[in-house]
Amino acid sequence: MSVNSKIIACNWKSYLGVGESISLAKALAVHSKKHKMRQRIIVAPSCIALYKVGQLLRGTQILLCAQNVNVESNGAYTGAMSFDSLRETGCKYVILGHSEVRSGKSLGIAETDRIIADKLRTCLKEGINPILCIGETLSEKEAGLTMKVLRRQLITDLGALHDMDSNKIDLMIAYEPVWAISSNGPSKSPDPAEINDIIIKLKKLLSSEFGHKIAPDVKFLYGGSVDNLNISGYLGQSSVDGVLIGGMSTNKSKIIGVLGK
Ligand code: PEP
Repeated sequence: MSVNSKIIACNWKSYLGVGESISLAKALAVHSKKHKMRQRIIVAPSCIALYKVGQLLRGTQILLCAQNVNVESNGAYTGAMSFDSLRETGCKYVILGHSEVRSGKSLGIAETDRIIADKLRTCLKEGINPILCIGETLSEKEAGLTMKVLRRQLITDLGALHDMDSNKIDLMIAYEPVWAISSNGPSKSPDPAEINDIIIKLKKLLSSEFGHKIAPDVKFLYGGSVDNLNISGYLGQSSVDGVLIGGMSTNKSKIIGVLGK
């Protein structure tokens, strides 16, 4: 995969209000219509901005993503985001297992691997493509537990893949070391070569656990303090299929600056 055709996924978290999301989506839509971008660009606005942003991105090559979804498809689930409404927005992807969701920082309740696995199963059934985030905390890294944690998350969260007979799964896994995420303290960007090595190990693990039918189609992203200065270091790694960007993706001039022209 050439650097120019890699994936750039943008997680706007709750940084932007509806008006700000609309304004950024309009700028991205204008850019996308003017320039034939070869990268796959994915944007995840907050759920309240999803519908309007989806309308603005229609007819562009930018794909829409939700930041989370309910375990069940539709029904009596107060406060939940249903799959039918997601589809109405034009949403193609959903982020699952973000560290802010796993820790309980985002929703007030920590999502376990079991819940994430159930959501992933429903996504595959409903045809919404998951972007599964995995990553170790600083204390886990310091205790030498990185691969053990990643293995547990990967194997549990992807349990539904054992029942899949199709090899046409548009699944992405974002390796996001929790300690590297910009909102968790002073920005720490890991060495791109180290990220490449971990992703190589994850690809091997995926292949040994879920077989050669599924593994080659899965794309691996890196996320954590990616900015306009270090992005090419990550995208230049052979095993890194793309990046998931938080904070920087909400800065109009910086994000447009890194998109292909
Ligand atoms: C994230 O939280 O998914 C993320 C990658 O954030 P940031 O780019 O701000 O570190």
